[in-house]
Amino acid sequence: IKISKSYKLASRDFHPDDTIIDIKGVKIGGDNLTIMGGPCAVETPEQIDEIARLVKAAGGQVLRGGAFKPRTGPYSFQGIGVEGLAMMAEAGKKHGLLTITEVMTPEYVDVCSEYADILQVGTRNMQNFDLLRKLGTVKTPVLLKRGFSATYDEFLNAAEYILAGGNPNVMLCERGIRTFESYTRNTLDLAAIPVLQDLSHLPVISDPSHGTGRRELVEPMSKASVAAGANGLIIEMHTDPDNSMTGDGVQSLFPDQFAKLLKELEQLGNLV
Ligand code: PEP
Ligand code: MN
Repeated sequence: IKISKSYKLASRDFHPDDTIIDIKGVKIGGDNLTIMGGPCAVETPEQIDEIARLVKAAGGQVLRGGAFKPRTGPYSFQGIGVEGLAMMAEAGKKHGLLTITEVMTPEYVDVCSEYADILQVGTRNMQNFDLLRKLGTVKTPVLLKRGFSATYDEFLNAAEYILAGGNPNVMLCERGIRTFESYTRNTLDLAAIPVLQDLSHLPVISDPSHGTGRRELVEPMSKASVAAGANGLIIEMHTDPDNSMTGDGVQSLFPDQFAKLLKELEQLGNLV
C-alpha cells in the first residue's frame, strides 16, 4: 500500500540513493552503524567528561547530552543551558567524539550550532514549525525525533520543512510512540525503521532508551533495531543513573552494560 505523499525532498522517489551525512569524517547513513551515547542531561564538567571517556572507549562515535531539557512539568529540572553546551563541547573534543544536543527554540539554534555537531529536535517539538524552518537555514545536521503521536507522513513532512529550507542534513529518529500499553514508557515502533527507509533516503536512528523507558529493554531493542536495519542508535548511559538529574536514570545503561552492548552489536552487524 502506498500512502499519498505530500513531501518531496524527503522522499526516496526524489532521491533514490541513501543520504550519507559526513560529519568531520564520521559517516552517518548507508551501511554505517553510528552509536550515540551519553546522559539524558549534562550535569557537571566531571560527569560529562567521564561519560565521554566511556562512550569513546566502548566504540561510540557521538556524545549525547541535553543542556536544554523539554520537561513535561514546569517544576522539573530544565537543564543547565549554555554552560552545559560548553562542557559537552569540551568533553567531545577531548575524547574525539562528535556531540549532539537538543535545541528547543529558534532563538537558540545558532548558539547550539556553535557548540554541537548535531542538533536534536525532541519528540514534543516535531511539529514546532518555526523551529523546523529555522533549522532549514543552517547547515548543522539535525536529528529529528518522531512526535510520540505522529504518523510516518507527518514525520516526513516535518523533515521536509528542514530540507525545503535548504538544510539537507537530516536524520530521522524513532523514539517510541504512545499506545495503550503503560508497562513501557513508549512503544518503540520497530516497523518504522524499514518503512521510513523505504519511503525516504534519510538515515534512520533508533532510540531504545526513550522507546522503552526501561533499562533492561535497551539491549534487546537495540539489537532488534539493528536487525531491522537502523543506521544508528542513540542510547542513554550514565555513571550514576540512580542519582541523575532527570528521571531518565531508570532507562540509562550503566557503563559496563553500554560497553557490552556495543561489543555484541559489532558481532550482530556481521549477521544482518
Ligand atoms: C532526550 O533525548 O533526552 C529526550 C528528551 O528525548 P525525546 O524528545 O524523545 O523525549
Ligand atoms: Mn532523556
